[in-house]
Amino acid sequence: MTFDTPDAFEAAVAAPPEADPSQALWFLFKGPQLLVRPDDARAHLPSASAAAQVEPAHRLYLGRLRGRHVYAAELPARAEPDDGHVTQGLRALFGRLDDELFALAGRAVQLVDWNRTHRYCGACGTPTALRASERSRECPSCKLVAYPRVAPAIMALVRDGQRILLARSPHFAPGMYSALAGFVEPGESLEQCLVREVREEVGVEVARPRYFGSQSWPFPHSMMIAFVADYAGGEISPDPAEIEDAGWFDLHHLPPQLPGKISISRRLIDAVLADIAQEPPAS
Ligand SMILES: [Zn+2]
Repeated sequence: MTFDTPDAFEAAVAAPPEADPSQALWFLFKGPQLLVRPDDARAHLPSASAAAQVEPAHRLYLGRLRGRHVYAAELPARAEPDDGHVTQGLRALFGRLDDELFALAGRAVQLVDWNRTHRYCGACGTPTALRASERSRECPSCKLVAYPRVAPAIMALVRDGQRILLARSPHFAPGMYSALAGFVEPGESLEQCLVREVREEVGVEVARPRYFGSQSWPFPHSMMIAFVADYAGGEISPDPAEIEDAGWFDLHHLPPQLPGKISISRRLIDAVLADIAQEPPAS
């Protein structure tokens, strides 16, 4: 279960004439919180009637999932959930919403957030309008076009033989350690970003970055690009502004807690630990 787009989803920008919003799947948000109907351990999308309070001009058409049209919108600030409905953050819905709907909720929350924060032109302040031809908003006055933002961030698991470098941010849950991560700066390659982030956060040099995988991460609009890299020198010296503690761990000495399975960081750590477990120890 991830936020990556389900294979069965066909994205589109403009609703076709036959699309009937009253029969559609609706992702309705209050800020970053999704409106759902909880049912024991599971959660479900609300019925389409919950979208009645959304003005047509404020709907975003997302495309089709297995033949059903999909819309997203921000609920009006005054709207209160009907009986049986609650609003919840996406992290709390991990494992409770259907896998495909959970993934689409990650897309929907990013598009709704972008739509809300680009209502006015960033250059001249004129109200912008959605374009029908592509996912963008255009200023009718100066023609500036705003696209949904995706912010690339690298994740780096540094490996030294049988050991891996894990660190914790002061924001993490107690006892949790993860791989290092940081946002790409304008002008940097992913590999340059990786070297800089590791150096800045823990004072260590790395070499030979190997691509592991990527994951959409809608908090609020990131793209995580994960690498494994080899330790190439230096002593661990955490940057106190970002890193509370960092250290070398091995199969027999792991931190009390690793990241949850919602994040690619856990897949990355598990994959490298599995590789290490299969290798004969260095003599
Ligand atoms: Zn403008």
